[in-house]
Amino acid sequence: MSARCPGETHTESAIDVVVIVVADPDHVVAGDQPPECVIDGWKTCADGLHILILAMLMLLGLHITVAVVHRGVRHDASQDSPAMIDEKLEPIFDDVVRRNAGEVEFHQAVHEVLESLGPVITKHPEYADQKIIQRICEPERQIIFRVPWRGDDGEVHINRGMRVEFNSALGPYKGGLRFHPSVNLGIVKFLGFEQIFKNALTGMPIGGGKGGADFDPKGRSDDEIMKFCQSFMLELYRHLGEQTDVPAGDIGVGEREIGWLFGQYKRITNRYESGVLTGKGTAWGGALVRTEATGYGVVFFVEEMLATRGESLDGRTVIVSGSGNVALHAIEKAQARGATVTACSDSSGFVHDPAGLDLDVLKDVKLHRRARISAYLDEVPSATFAERGNIWDVECHVALPCATQNELIRRDAEALARNGCIAVAEGANMPCTPEAVQVFNSAGIAFGPGKAANAGGVATSALEMQQNASRDSWTFEHTEARLAEIMKNIHQTCFEYADRFDAPGNLVHGANIAGFERVATAMVALGLV
Ligand code: NAP
Repeated sequence: MSARCPGETHTESAIDVVVIVVADPDHVVAGDQPPECVIDGWKTCADGLHILILAMLMLLGLHITVAVVHRGVRHDASQDSPAMIDEKLEPIFDDVVRRNAGEVEFHQAVHEVLESLGPVITKHPEYADQKIIQRICEPERQIIFRVPWRGDDGEVHINRGMRVEFNSALGPYKGGLRFHPSVNLGIVKFLGFEQIFKNALTGMPIGGGKGGADFDPKGRSDDEIMKFCQSFMLELYRHLGEQTDVPAGDIGVGEREIGWLFGQYKRITNRYESGVLTGKGTAWGGALVRTEATGYGVVFFVEEMLATRGESLDGRTVIVSGSGNVALHAIEKAQARGATVTACSDSSGFVHDPAGLDLDVLKDVKLHRRARISAYLDEVPSATFAERGNIWDVECHVALPCATQNELIRRDAEALARNGCIAVAEGANMPCTPEAVQVFNSAGIAFGPGKAANAGGVATSALEMQQNASRDSWTFEHTEARLAEIMKNIHQTCFEYADRFDAPGNLVHGANIAGFERVATAMVALGLV
């Protein structure tokens, strides 16, 4: 089996090779990059020598994935032509690509939304007059800053921090912070852009933003991570506020890091401003269910998708990529609803047990020991571990990608379809490539896009803000019931909008159009700002 570092072109110690061929450099980077290959992070022109090297790598048994960048959007090669956007929107997309050179994940996220918006601009000419789409694609503010810190060995390190405050038409900027070495402006912008529509879909008064740093917490001591968080907040604090910008966690940022960030904010500002960060510990202003919300919400959403087809999760097999916050809680809720979760992963590989994974052991390995997923076998030797294996080759009824962007590509989608999968929901942000989504649609597999399916986390963050503002705290049962209701409403909204815009059952179009309409209506009302 092959291994991959999804969405990234560079993989340390990878045995897999991703080749990106830039098919139309004029569109991609306004001519400042020649046609090229990126071979496992190594950029080169696609000349004869490199083709020879590729051939040798293939002979050595390495798996080669070829992706073509066409009009700024990454596609798996040899696939159907990319989905089209309305010709009225094409110049807008070209402009986004030109103005945000090289930010391929951002281009991909914008393209995916614009694919849905053709009928909307026909119905609402005022959006074109007000240049709403151009404005929505341009962040209101982008902040990039240096984060210096000193390691335990005395060495000085410099990271890059950023916060993209994308759109505040519906409320304060809201979206998580990601600490991962792959973080760059294009990734933060794609996440912030998605967040605008996701937050609108929740029906809560929150705008969209996202942030993070190219800091790798792996292998760092607690003290080093705390020092990094404090240095990061020393700049970020001046841009935050419970009415302005309210971050939460994301990859590499959990309750522990939110605590250190909040402590530093409180120290600098001399204000106990609980509502400035969400995902806090319940002993100091956090909401019950926030930790579980994204994973639980994904499962609630899957139940709604299945119900429209007269199906349920009971007795079904489920596989979940990742083993972080979203994945573990998706596993927990899927098991509670009668499903057998047979596989989950981390970036080192996946564990598989047809009899079902033991969640207590998983939590001990990942949350308490912070170990690699293979340590699961120490406690459950009957399970198997596939080092750098591809989890999507495991048979299942329901697949929940809950790790990272572009982790599920066309051939994975084909494997899932072949193996009898009936539903896929994105716990992570944009984990499925556009071609994978096309395969799901053609195969009649129910598909829940991330901006709808994983909106439970941010919705519960908004509930945390409500509780902070009223100095109140709700019970677990009450908060979970609110979450379930919100996820049901989001599904219903996406379903109805898909129908109304002649794409019955297509929740991608439904989510994009419904989210966009809410934001666009507010932007028109607020004038040219
Ligand atoms: P997390 O707690 O840091 O967990 C991420 C998990 O994904 C880890 O197990 C990580 O493994 C794994 N992973 C990363 N790259 C991988 C790869 N290439 N192959 C397999 N596994 C990989 O992060 P999270 O909060 O669960 O977030 C996961 C996704 O959900 C992200 O896309 C995030 O944006 C999205 N999301 C999160 C929330 C939220 O409330 N947390 C809300 C909405 C959406 P390693 O430990 O080996 O790196």
